[in-house]
Amino acid sequence: MTLSAVPPRNWLDVIHPTVRDAAPSGIVEVFDYGRGRQGLIPLWIGEGDLPAPACVSEAAKASIDRGETFYTAQAGIPALRDAIAAYMTRVYGAAPGGGPFCPENFFATIGGMHAIEIATRLTLGPGDEALIPSPAWPNFVGAIETSGARAVAVRLSREGRWSLDPHRLAAAATPATKVVFLNSPANPTGFVATREELAATLAIARAHDLWIVADEIYGRLTYDGARAPSFHDVMAPDDKILFVQTLSKNWAMTGFRVGWLEAPPALGPVIENLVQFTTSGVPVFTQRAAIAALTDGEAFLAAQIERCRRSRDILCEGLTATGRVRFFEPEAAFYLFFEVDGFPDSRALALRLIDEAGIGAAPGAAFGPGGEGHLRVCFARDPAQMEEATRRLVRWLKR
Ligand code: PMP
Repeated sequence: MTLSAVPPRNWLDVIHPTVRDAAPSGIVEVFDYGRGRQGLIPLWIGEGDLPAPACVSEAAKASIDRGETFYTAQAGIPALRDAIAAYMTRVYGAAPGGGPFCPENFFATIGGMHAIEIATRLTLGPGDEALIPSPAWPNFVGAIETSGARAVAVRLSREGRWSLDPHRLAAAATPATKVVFLNSPANPTGFVATREELAATLAIARAHDLWIVADEIYGRLTYDGARAPSFHDVMAPDDKILFVQTLSKNWAMTGFRVGWLEAPPALGPVIENLVQFTTSGVPVFTQRAAIAALTDGEAFLAAQIERCRRSRDILCEGLTATGRVRFFEPEAAFYLFFEVDGFPDSRALALRLIDEAGIGAAPGAAFGPGGEGHLRVCFARDPAQMEEATRRLVRWLKR
């Protein structure tokens, strides 16, 4: 037999089915289709158009220049853990149970995604189930399913706003359920859980002995001047809650890849192991950048929120005037999740908008049950560009 006669190996047959069979992100498919199109306005990814603030980049550069280029503490450098604790005390008032937050509760991660990955490893294994209010950011399902567990969608209600029906959540719990992933304020819907909804979710978690993974990364990107309600406001110190946080959105640091997991200090050695066995730590210079954002980043955050508010209003007013779209105006985060009359197939619609309107939008189907029929656009952009994007969308809708 000559070498060329050997059939090529089917590589997808020889990897673990759990990872092979995980559904790809439906956002990536559309992104790949439109990537590099001349003049396209990209509103499909969850990041804005601003670079990180200068104080953040300067801190990273200074760190590299000082030679901070070595392996580092698995939990994060003490200065970052201190800065997170001080920031949390400033923004959330007091730690659950009273008093300031302790640095020992915080573990540096490679962005919020790595915090989700560690939280998943801590709470789920093959055969377990996780409840996810849905539509939801697809990476939750991705993290859960690549761990061999099953993601169970619990549809959000839509009565004047996106809302969470606690009875629906409780009804979805089975003996295999180990955790509820609650993202509030939420990507893609802009759903902001009220204090009552958080308390009801916590009561269900207590009754069924479930963990809660609380992704509150958009908690400060709100348009009413206050931070969003948090599980910190309703929990007791021994509640089984893991918090996901990131520097990515508040401070335009998506490329820095730095965030944190908040967890009981007793889990420290296990979390440090998981960090060691996944990334072996967060680069020190990005941790220095994170400290700069947490201590000197308030003006940037306030300006970013104002900019997002203006862009949100431009988009919402423009689309409303067409009479062809339906949405709840987002009170937080920087996404508009809307339905277009007559277009039930969101993937087809997103592909057409690339070709015919020069707009990149994420298809609602990518966000799981309840998402089909919607599009998600990110409005964290210069208001002038948002006007152009709105003009294009409106022109296409009215054609
Ligand atoms: N959680 C949610 C709800 C998100 O929208 C995102 C980013 N799109 C993340 C976590 C992950 O953030 P990071 O980029 O810091 O990994």
